[in-house]
Amino acid sequence: MTQGRSRRAFLASAAGLGGIFSLRHLSAAVQAASSPYRRPRLKITDIRTAEVRAHGLQTHVRVYTDQGLFGHGEATDAAQGAADIIRRVFHPLMVGQDPLNVDLLWERVRAGGIFAGAQAGQFVAALSGVEIALWDLAGKALGLPVYQLLGGKMRDRIRLYCDAAHHEPEDPKSREMLTQIREMGFTAVKIDCDDANNPYRWDRVAWTVNNRELDLIVERVRFVREFLPREIELGVDGHGRFDMGSAKRLAKAFEPFRLLWFEEPVPAENVAALRDVRESTSTPIACGENRFLRFGFTDILERRAADIIQPDLQKAGGLLEGRRIADLAHAYYVPFAPHCVVSPIGTMGSCHVCAAVPNFLVLEWHWISRLDYWRNFVQEGDIIQNGFIEVPDRPGLGVTMNEEAARSRQVPGTGWFEPARS
Ligand code: MG
Repeated sequence: MTQGRSRRAFLASAAGLGGIFSLRHLSAAVQAASSPYRRPRLKITDIRTAEVRAHGLQTHVRVYTDQGLFGHGEATDAAQGAADIIRRVFHPLMVGQDPLNVDLLWERVRAGGIFAGAQAGQFVAALSGVEIALWDLAGKALGLPVYQLLGGKMRDRIRLYCDAAHHEPEDPKSREMLTQIREMGFTAVKIDCDDANNPYRWDRVAWTVNNRELDLIVERVRFVREFLPREIELGVDGHGRFDMGSAKRLAKAFEPFRLLWFEEPVPAENVAALRDVRESTSTPIACGENRFLRFGFTDILERRAADIIQPDLQKAGGLLEGRRIADLAHAYYVPFAPHCVVSPIGTMGSCHVCAAVPNFLVLEWHWISRLDYWRNFVQEGDIIQNGFIEVPDRPGLGVTMNEEAARSRQVPGTGWFEPARS
């Protein structure tokens, strides 16, 4: 009905223009306006994996089709065993299906696994790698960058923060590394404060901070804060180790430094405890890398337990799930700063989401101690320019693995995108 009306309106207005349009041109215009776009017809033929060890384990995933196109994704952190889950559980559900119905496939696999651990952990990390490969494939099939499929682009380049491995005032490597980070153009840095080898720790299991231990942590934060210019923001990560009292004391002690955030001050499971820490301090509290799917973020947001959320998109459910988590957070005016420890392929997947959401803050980058591997991992070379990644307009993710370089850290005893034998 609507289409009929609009075509009649088009013909009437074109006819009204009289001599401007010849009949030949009018006919061509009507045909162009009415001929349907042909949706690509694809079928999944195989899903293959390759495992590398860089910052922990990364499982690379390729979804192949009957038209020669394939998509490439990546899973991490909870990816141990992901290759087996993909081969045994996902492969039979997905082969023969239309890969462009990304969310249907994702939901079918997730809902089909609710009695098999699909709420979190390895199952969701494996699904994340497959989902990212499906978006890469969809972009390639449709000739569009992934950000376009996620709603379009709000920004052209993605701000990164550099995770710094060294922050000891007496260690000469610290000044060297912090200088390098500054020279590379980063506008934000993160350091760790949970040091199992802190010389003043008396227990190797419990994480109750004593006065001297706390003083040393604060000295390290002060050193980095004072070494870096003020325009470079500083975050501190607790890795979810400290007990409640220690987390509160640390957050209070960090207040003069006006941190970007204090990350995972307490373990990830107890949201009420996290909220108690947040309510005790003016230091912004961040968390999320150990939460899964949108369901892992609803209680954090509803209970006002964090100032910033940090889902890991290669672990928490993939790119569209990352967008959903960002949108949930946006409803609470909470910024989105994804955790990210993967190769340029997975990182670029995160960049497409960060480009598409309104509440993006900053994206993690954790490969400064393996720069050569980073710079050679994809055929496009180093995708970081002055602490930012420009979001490419190429179809799909817009980066292609450099097989030879990537394979230099293949996990021994694993296959390299071997055909699945189901
Ligand atoms: Mg962390």
